[in-house]
Parts: sequence; C-alpha cells; structure tokens
Amino acid sequence: MDSSLLYLYFCSMFGYRLTTSLLLVILTMASCQNSSHDSKKIQLTVSIIPQKYLVGFITDGKCDVQAMLPVGSNHETYEPAPRDMEKISTSKMYLALGALDFEITWLDRFKSSNPDMLIVNTSKGIEMLSGQCSGHADENGHKSHGIDPHIWLSPSCMKIQATNICNSLCGIDTTNALIYKDRLNKFNLLADSVDREIRKRLTGFEGKPILIFHPALAYFCRDYNLEQISIEQEGKEPSPLYLTELVTVAKQKGIKSIFISKEFDTRNAEAIAKEINAKVVVFDPMAENWPENMILLAELIAAN
Ligand SMILES: [Zn+2]
Repeated sequence: MDSSLLYLYFCSMFGYRLTTSLLLVILTMASCQNSSHDSKKIQLTVSIIPQKYLVGFITDGKCDVQAMLPVGSNHETYEPAPRDMEKISTSKMYLALGALDFEITWLDRFKSSNPDMLIVNTSKGIEMLSGQCSGHADENGHKSHGIDPHIWLSPSCMKIQATNICNSLCGIDTTNALIYKDRLNKFNLLADSVDREIRKRLTGFEGKPILIFHPALAYFCRDYNLEQISIEQEGKEPSPLYLTELVTVAKQKGIKSIFISKEFDTRNAEAIAKEINAKVVVFDPMAENWPENMILLAELIAAN
C-alpha cells in the first residue's frame, strides 16, 4: 500500500490526525515492507526496460534490477539525468546492451562514478547487424558506431544475452548460481515458445515488406524472413527526394501500413501514410512484458 494511502487509512480509522511520531513509525514500517530497493540484495542496472525483464527473469527476485532509461524515453536521444546516475552509485554490476548510442558515450562515465561496478556487455557472441541508429555525432564529432542495437526484439538474440547474463551473475554471486542456471534454462524454453508463436502467426507472410519509421526490426526481420524498409535515413528525417522514392516503392509493393515506435513523432509517418493510403500502426519496442509484446508484434505484422 502506498504510504499516503496508509496515512489516510489510519486517519479515518482513528478519526483524527495522527501524531507525527506515530505517523513516522507507520511510514517506516510501510516503506520497509514495500520497498523494491532491498539493500541486502545485489543491485543491478541495465540500460532499457526489456533487459530489465530478462535480468529480472534470470535473477528471480534474488537481485534488484533497475533500468537506466525511464519509461517512455527514446533510446536514440536519451542522456542520463542526475537521478538516473544515482542508480549507478548503488550498483554492483551494469549489464549493458552493448550497442546503444548512450552506452558508448556514457559507460566510461558510469565506471568513473562507481569504479567498483562491473560492466558487462550482454551482446557478446551475437552476430550484430550494421545500421545507423541515431546518426548522432558524439562530442568528438564521431558519427554513430554503425551497429544496429535492436537485438532485444529477437528471441534468438535474447537467448544469447540470457546466457551472458547468467554467466556474469554466477561470477559475482556463487551462492545463487544454481538458481540462475535453472532460470536460464527456463528462459530458453520461454524464448523458444515465443519463437514458435511468432512463426505460427507469420506463416504465409514470408518476404513481407514492412515500412517502418525507425528501423527497429532488422533482427526480427532477419529471423523471420521479412523485409524492413526504413523511413528514417541514418537516424534523420527523410529528405523530400527519399520520401518520393518511398511513396513509389510502397505503391509498387502494395504496402498498406506504416509501423512506428510509440516514443517517436508520428507526423512524417502520417504524411506518408496519407500519400499511399495506408494506416499508421503503433508498437512499443520497450514494453516490459517481453514475451507478450513479441507475439503482439507478430500479430500486428500479420494483420497489417
Ligand atoms: Zn533504435
């Protein structure tokens, strides 16, 4: 129960305002019971919400897992706020996705703000695709690293990350190693069943072109034999010339929808949708319930 609700509850029970000291006792008790920040547990930080799901699955309540990116923020443009940096100060390990632009800029700074924190690259061993995600230049003027980071939208990539996560956890917490290994096996079974459900829904759609605002589905399209056509060019709004080309391609291929990630501006997508008489389909690549979200994505692709 929320502390303020608890306060109101006690007020109504006793019919008067509680003395400050009694209230403090109650609030302290409530915060001890409800805190997700159990200081006895190992604190772990990940970059994005779907990774929080994965690490939460493997740790099964043995660790506290927090995501750097707050809900609703865009991974292309994200910069850690001071309150996000506080998460680093209590973390024993940072499980990086391994290819997000902000990680490349910030991981060294995370390390210097908490030198004891281990930093793990969970994408080790994944066959990464090239791609321009944000196209942002860093402070030295270097362009984006050219690696597509959207590996979490692929069950096969998530399985590799799960193994990396399990190995890192066993390294810092041998007491619970058997639990982590057992959970890894369970996750692999879950990812396989998600993969089967996706394939079921996409049967008959092999080679289907998917017009998408921000190219988040390269790994998904690779795994399930679909064709991703990006509206963004190297992380930037499309040029008028490219837009004209896209309209032609979309008409040729009979494309009836434009996919767009929830946290992106839909104006451009809507303008193109109008041109080709298509509808805009919004999906959320950052949803916390990863298995459900992946199957929903397959359903959206099959239906649109
Ligand atoms: Zn992206």
